[in-house]
Amino acid sequence: MYRDSTLAVRTGQYPDLSDSHCEPIAFTSAFTFKSAEDAAGKFQGTIPGNVYARFTNPTVRAFEERLAALEKAEDCVSFSSGMAAISAVGMAFLQAGNSIVCSRDVFGTTLNAFRTYFSRFGVEIRTVDLTDLDEWRQAIDHTTRLAFLETPSNPGLDIVDINAVCQIAHAQGALVAVDNTMLTPVFQKPLLAGADIVIHSAGKYIDGQGRCVAGAVAGNAVLMRELRGVLRSLGYSLSPMNAWLLTKSMETLEIRMHHVNQTATYLSEWLQELDGVHGVNYTGLPDHPQHALALRQQQGHGGLLSFRISGGRERAWRFINALRLISIATNIGDTRTMITHPASTTHHKLSPEEKRLTGIDDSLLRLSVGLEHVCDLKQDIWQALVESDSRAATPMVDFVVRNKRTHASTEVNSCLHGLR
Ligand SMILES: *Cc1c(COP(=O)(O)O)cnc(C)c1O
Repeated sequence: MYRDSTLAVRTGQYPDLSDSHCEPIAFTSAFTFKSAEDAAGKFQGTIPGNVYARFTNPTVRAFEERLAALEKAEDCVSFSSGMAAISAVGMAFLQAGNSIVCSRDVFGTTLNAFRTYFSRFGVEIRTVDLTDLDEWRQAIDHTTRLAFLETPSNPGLDIVDINAVCQIAHAQGALVAVDNTMLTPVFQKPLLAGADIVIHSAGKYIDGQGRCVAGAVAGNAVLMRELRGVLRSLGYSLSPMNAWLLTKSMETLEIRMHHVNQTATYLSEWLQELDGVHGVNYTGLPDHPQHALALRQQQGHGGLLSFRISGGRERAWRFINALRLISIATNIGDTRTMITHPASTTHHKLSPEEKRLTGIDDSLLRLSVGLEHVCDLKQDIWQALVESDSRAATPMVDFVVRNKRTHASTEVNSCLHGLR
């Protein structure tokens, strides 16, 4: 009979979870091998199977397979964060002497990672206007190994023809990576438009509930093999817990995306009618400069919109502070609607020139629409506009009076959207 210390670690059945309807979580770092031969084969890659959870874990694998299926990718490799995913792409495909051509208004930390860290390894960073194909054409040359873009941009909601950038980049032998965090595969499949690599900050819309930080990269099997090699050696691995959260989240991704798309459409149309609000950015608006491209390239417009409030930073902050329902948070893609003042938070590091080029001024606000009822969101925005106006040193009395009509005509108080 074994002694207690042995019994304490050796008794008890392994649960057989193969009939569990919900996917179990493989909380394990190690895996056992049937024999020394099996261990050697799995380590050397001649026998498929789990080796060590830094780069093989069944729960993490389930998430990768599910995301690959939605992105129409041959394979997917997940990472501990979106930034880890982006850094792994750099590690996998760049070397000294290469250049990256990147749209100027990508996620701020992405550009910072390229400029601060990749540049140390002899990689040159060139930035271009996302929407200007001539700039892409001029910037991409034979040294360019990676063209990197995010469409739609955040918070400007500019877009680019992914296929057009792919043609320019591929002609020079460069890979095209698209950060698809904003639209998710529900509304945009960059690989089908010709991109080589699609990247996700998966804690945004894919989780959709603000519970974890995670990243993923999808693409063809050859590229993904390179990335798994980077994961194996550099180790920014996704935890099984977070992978499980994301796997379950993906089951509701489509209905969540359709919901935020609908609400953001209603809100952007309504905001456009209000005096005191201007410059509403949303690709679903017919007067968005690239609306036609959006209809061609995207299956929806997503849950992110931005707008300007007359009166600059003081009034923008007063408006934010007067909101009662909408959260002040710089994240995107949660169940709860969040508002951000980009110029003083997410984009405060931009130089005045960069702010000018990307259109991020003091009156700009970004809304990440959640799953609340659209009428409650309208009511909150309306009361905050009125409240922030009444507290103004020089109230825009006009604003309230002129908007009373719009307010009534769009039925904020007896909001009908829910009945449509
Ligand atoms: C948040 C975000 C990232 C970075 O992802 P993390 O998971 O926070 O590391 C990259 N790209 C976009 C578009 C993002 O919104």
